[in-house]
Amino acid sequence: MDFNFIDQELEEIKSARLYRELKTFSFSKTLLNFSSNNYLGLSQDPRVIEAGQKALAEFGTGGEASRLVTGTTVWHNKLEKEIASFKKRERSLVYPTGYMANIGVITALISENDLLIIDKLNHASIIDACKLSKGTLRVYKHKDMESLEKILKESESFKKKLIVTDAVFSMDGDIAPLPQIISLAKKYGAFVMVDEAHSIGVIGKTGRGIEEHFGLDGEVEIVMGTLSKAIGALGGYVAGSQKLIEYLINKSRSFIYTTALPSHICASAYKSFEIIKNEPELLATLHENIKLFESISKIKTESAIIPIIIGDETKALAKSKELLSEGFLVSPIRYPTVAKGSARLRVTISANHKRDDIERLAGLVKIN
Ligand code: PMP
Repeated sequence: MDFNFIDQELEEIKSARLYRELKTFSFSKTLLNFSSNNYLGLSQDPRVIEAGQKALAEFGTGGEASRLVTGTTVWHNKLEKEIASFKKRERSLVYPTGYMANIGVITALISENDLLIIDKLNHASIIDACKLSKGTLRVYKHKDMESLEKILKESESFKKKLIVTDAVFSMDGDIAPLPQIISLAKKYGAFVMVDEAHSIGVIGKTGRGIEEHFGLDGEVEIVMGTLSKAIGALGGYVAGSQKLIEYLINKSRSFIYTTALPSHICASAYKSFEIIKNEPELLATLHENIKLFESISKIKTESAIIPIIIGDETKALAKSKELLSEGFLVSPIRYPTVAKGSARLRVTISANHKRDDIERLAGLVKIN
């Protein structure tokens, strides 16, 4: 087989200034990371590390087998109970990644005669899940409730209708209009699923996410999230009714046919939830840091993600390099992660950033 097509396609990517390479990051003292999703700094918290180390010594490095074979340990059970309680749901289920959770939930629930309705700016894992599912896919304009209602009005013939939205949009940092989505879902008999990847541990009075933010506890049928961002570990989860979780255990292929998350990861994630619950000052610090960045840069956000829209791909790369020379790691985000011509720097704020560093970066990206 001739692989010339690969050379050709890579050339095209390079000439569009969209070529990507892996960079190796070390925890250098000289570079300040403003691109990580470690919003609460928990992946570096000594207590989270220690909890993982203890379980590592007891259970070993790997997941050993799939969850339904011998992969479920006491740590999976403890973590799932903790997530269910944190999200005020009957039960939860942990997947090896958030990506796999989206794939596994959406493909299990949606079949030929069903309809998936998603926000245009939803995360790639939701889009991929929709492509893999056998249902029909309709996309509404970003946060546009008229566009959503129009689709719902035209969807009477479908058996099940599932609206899926990011809670906090990963490249824009804005929050989905959940109250309106829920009321439209009720009006037209649809279910709602939220992806809390960037909202858990970040929004809501106690960091419990989008329902707490809007005072809508328990209103969403399917709550999905990841343990890889504010929780500082790895893995995805789904929280919901006992019935939903039983169904997923039996039907969700990316849960069934893959090796379990290793126990030490679950132990670290469990510790993170404990810290979030017991130390509200961590969330308060994150929000103080966000406010500080906003006040100097004059760029507003609703979450810990601050997009600095540049537009041109080459300019975004250049700005990122300039910040690097000042000691700041701020990744440029380009097509296909965002639309062509809407390249941006994506600044993320963490509770463990120092005030001086936030002030300096905010000054460098400030809008005049
Ligand atoms: N959903 C959203 C909104 C995300 O931003 C991400 C991670 N980039 C995921 C899902 C996937 O989560 P994970 O990294 O745990 O696979």
